[in-house]
Amino acid sequence: MKDRYLDFVNSPFGTSIARSLGLPRPEALRRHRADRAEFGGIAAIGAGPSPARFDDLMAVLSAIGMTSVAHESASGWLPVAARHGAMSGRFEPRARDSLASDRVEALIFDATGIAQSSQLHALYAFFHDALRSLAKNGRIVVLARPGATSTSMAGVAAATAQHALEGMVRSLGKEARNGITSNLLRVADDASFESALRFFLSPRSAYVSGQVVTIDAPSADPQSWTKPLAGQRALVTGAARGIGAAIAATLAEHGAIVTGLDVDAARDALDQTMLSIEDASPSGGAHAALVADIATPEAPAEIAAALVASGGIDIVVHNAGITRDKTIARMTDEMWDSVIDINLLAQERIDEVLLGQNVLRDDGRIVAISSIGGIAGNRGQTNYATSKAGVIGRVRALAPLLRERGVTINAVAPGFIETQMTARMPFGVREAGRRLNSMGQGGLPVDVAETVAWLASPGSAGITGNVVRVCGQSLIGA
Ligand code: NAD
Repeated sequence: MKDRYLDFVNSPFGTSIARSLGLPRPEALRRHRADRAEFGGIAAIGAGPSPARFDDLMAVLSAIGMTSVAHESASGWLPVAARHGAMSGRFEPRARDSLASDRVEALIFDATGIAQSSQLHALYAFFHDALRSLAKNGRIVVLARPGATSTSMAGVAAATAQHALEGMVRSLGKEARNGITSNLLRVADDASFESALRFFLSPRSAYVSGQVVTIDAPSADPQSWTKPLAGQRALVTGAARGIGAAIAATLAEHGAIVTGLDVDAARDALDQTMLSIEDASPSGGAHAALVADIATPEAPAEIAAALVASGGIDIVVHNAGITRDKTIARMTDEMWDSVIDINLLAQERIDEVLLGQNVLRDDGRIVAISSIGGIAGNRGQTNYATSKAGVIGRVRALAPLLRERGVTINAVAPGFIETQMTARMPFGVREAGRRLNSMGQGGLPVDVAETVAWLASPGSAGITGNVVRVCGQSLIGA
C-alpha cells in the first residue's frame, strides 16, 4: 500500500507546504539500486583508548572504496591508513552554516578498547563534533566487544562500559533522523565483521536501526561480495507474496537458486512470483515452486523429499505466517491453535526433519521471521505475539546446538512493513505503525529480504542466535 504522506512531503510542492506548516518530513530512504554505486564517500573515524580493530576496519573501507578522515579521538588511525597505503586526513568539525558538500557518509567508532565507564567520554567527543557532518541517509556504526561473564572487578567495569554503548547507539539513531541508521556490532577478537559492516554501511540496511549484533566466531569471505549466495540453494516458505516473495527475489538476486513454497490456494501467485524471479535472476529453470501446507503433518517429509530431489539445501527461511486477531476473551480455540501451529510449531517440525536427515547441509543457514509483536506484545494478538516470541526463544536455544555443524540460526523481526497484511489494518493503527519509528515511515518487504540475505551469506558464519529487528527503530518494544 502506498504511503501517500511520505510521497507528498517529498514532492516539490509538498516540501514547501510541510516546511511552512512545520509538519514532520520523513526522509525518502536510499535503498539499493543496481544502477547506483553501493558504497562511496568519506567515513569519519573515532575511537576510545586502545582500539583493537583499526586494521580490519581499514581493510574493509579500502575494499569497498570509501575514504576516511580521523577525528582527534582516533589519533592512531593515520599511521594505520599509511600502512595500508590509503589516503586519509584529519576530520574537521562542520560549522553550523557550512555548505552541504562537506558531509561524510558514515561515522564509525571503534569502542573495542573501552574498559571503564569514564572512557565513554570519547564517544561524546566524537559524536558531539561529528553528528552534524553526517549526510542524509548516512550510517553510524560502533564496534564493540561481545558481552562476557565477568570474573573480576575489572571485568565488571569493562562489561558495564561496553553495555552502556547500547544506550548511546540507540539514542543516536533517534536523534539523527534524516534516514540515518545507527547500529552496534559486538565482535569477538577472532571474528571478522566485514559482512556485517558492508551490510550496515550499505543502502541495503535502510530500515535497520538501533540494532545490536553479536559476531562471535570466525567466518570465511564469500567468493564474491556481489553474488555472495552463488551456488547455494534456498527454501523460502510463504513465497507467493509479500515479504516471502521479496525474500525469494532478493536471495536469487544474490545468486541463490530458490525454491518458493506456498499453499495450494496461492499456487497461481506462487507461479507468477517464481516466473518473475526467473526473469530477473535467470537460473536456467532451477528456481522452483513447491506447493505444500506447512500446517499438515506430512509437510516436513514432502518438503525434505522435494529438496533432496533437487540437490539438498543450504538456506532455509521460515517466513510463512498468519494472524488471527482477537482479544483473548473472544479468541476461539481454532484462532489460537492455527497461529501457534503455522508460525511456530511448523518451523520446529520442518527443521527437525531437515536437520535430522541432513537435508540442510553443514554450514547451512536458518533464518526465522519473527515480529516486533513477539518482543513488545500487542493488544488482540496474544496468539501471534506468543508464536513470534517463541520463534526468538527457539533461535536462541538452538544456535549453540548447531554450532558444531557450522549451521547458524537467526531471527529477523520486522516492524511495520507495507504488505497486504498491514494494508488490512484500521487506518489509525496503520498510521501509528508507520510513523512511530525513527524513520517516520513503514518499511518495504525488500528491507526484510536484504537482512535475510545478509544473515544467509557465507560471510555471516559468525552471526548466530541473534535477533535483528527491521523496524526503522520502532518505538514499540525498543
Ligand atoms: P502475507 O500474508 O502477505 O504472506 C504470508 C504468506 O504465507 C502467504 O503467501 C500465505 O499463503 C503463506 N502461508 C500462510 N500459511 C501457510 C501455510 N500453512 N503453508 C504455506 N504457506 C502459508 O504476510 P507478510 O506480511 O508477507 O508476512 C510474512 C511474514 O512476516 C509472516 O511470518 C509475518 O508474521 C511476518 N511479519 C510481517 C509484518 C508486516 O508488517 N507485514 C510484520 C512483522 C512480521
